[in-house]
Amino acid sequence: MLKNIEVFYFPETVKDAVRLLNRHAPHAAVIAGGTLITKSPNLSTRVLVDIRGIDMDYVKVQAGRLRIGARTSFQSLADSKLLQKWAGGALSRAAAAVTTHLIRNAGTIGGDVARALPYNDMPPVLMALDAEAVIVDGKKTRTLPVEEMVRGHMWRIVGRRALLTEFRLPSETRKRACAIARFARSASDWEAMVHAVASMEKSRGICRNARIVLGAVTRHAQRFPQAEAVLEGKPYSESLAAEAAQAVFDGLTPVSRASAEYRREVASVLVRRAIREVWNENETQQ
Ligand SMILES: Cc1cc2nc3c(=O)[nH]c(=O)nc-3n(C[C@H](O)[C@H](O)[C@H](O)COP(=O)(O)OP(=O)(O)OC[C@H]3O[C@@H](n4cnc5c(N)ncnc54)[C@H](O)[C@@H]3O)c2cc1C
Repeated sequence: MLKNIEVFYFPETVKDAVRLLNRHAPHAAVIAGGTLITKSPNLSTRVLVDIRGIDMDYVKVQAGRLRIGARTSFQSLADSKLLQKWAGGALSRAAAAVTTHLIRNAGTIGGDVARALPYNDMPPVLMALDAEAVIVDGKKTRTLPVEEMVRGHMWRIVGRRALLTEFRLPSETRKRACAIARFARSASDWEAMVHAVASMEKSRGICRNARIVLGAVTRHAQRFPQAEAVLEGKPYSESLAAEAAQAVFDGLTPVSRASAEYRREVASVLVRRAIREVWNENETQQ
């Protein structure tokens, strides 16, 4: 709970929001949909900068690249006709699977990545599609891979001194096939035990630019280059998928919330399932 709030600001531009954050640092925080921060026990937060008045709610293509505003809600992502066609609609499907209507309507993609908990749904899919995050702080605007953002130190300043404004996906990811396999204690449990995403180009039966990402098993969503290398440039087969899954099994050191052995086993099963789905169920995109 945010018990000590003294001031609420409603800036209308990115510049004003960043200025307010820095003026009140370290006691200021960004609030977007409010679904996560309202549960935050951070009692030092005294100033909230509400970004709902800033134009960061869009999904569009510019110069071939996909651009998603950080304040776009899960429901808007799920409903976007553009996203439903990009990479087989993976981002749209991931957003539609977010547990409840209330959370889908209020929660934003920016909030999901800014405080990327291990089991948040959007970071693994964004990483599998080579997404970059645009971050504006008091001094400069930087663009960095989502992968780097979730495992690096940016979380220390994002939402406190800096604003995440946009995600950008390269044009070549439009035609990638992408499958998501998720395992949780129950369908309504949003804290997945294991979350596997596979994406790749299917070029005349050959796997190209494969990405294998796991969420919920390590501290941050993580790519598995060893498994990607197994697939790269090879014709798809069940045994190739099994080999890639074995590479995940061998390379994974899961954090707690179930035995490491169990999670390693489930992760490799889900990776194999996601790769198979890319090849079998997305045939139309070939
Ligand atoms: C009951 C429940 C169910 C949930 N189900 C799911 C689920 O199925 N899948 C899932 O992934 N998540 C789920 N969540 C978690 C949460 O709803 C999401 O992570 C959501 O995307 C958070 O976005 P928000 O806009 O509400 O963020 P907020 O709560 O407003 O902010 C979260 C954090 O991000 C920072 N922040 C937000 N936007 C920005 C920005 N643009 N720039 C910089 N910092 C920013 C804030 O300062 C804060 O630290 C659930 C949460 C609850 C309570």
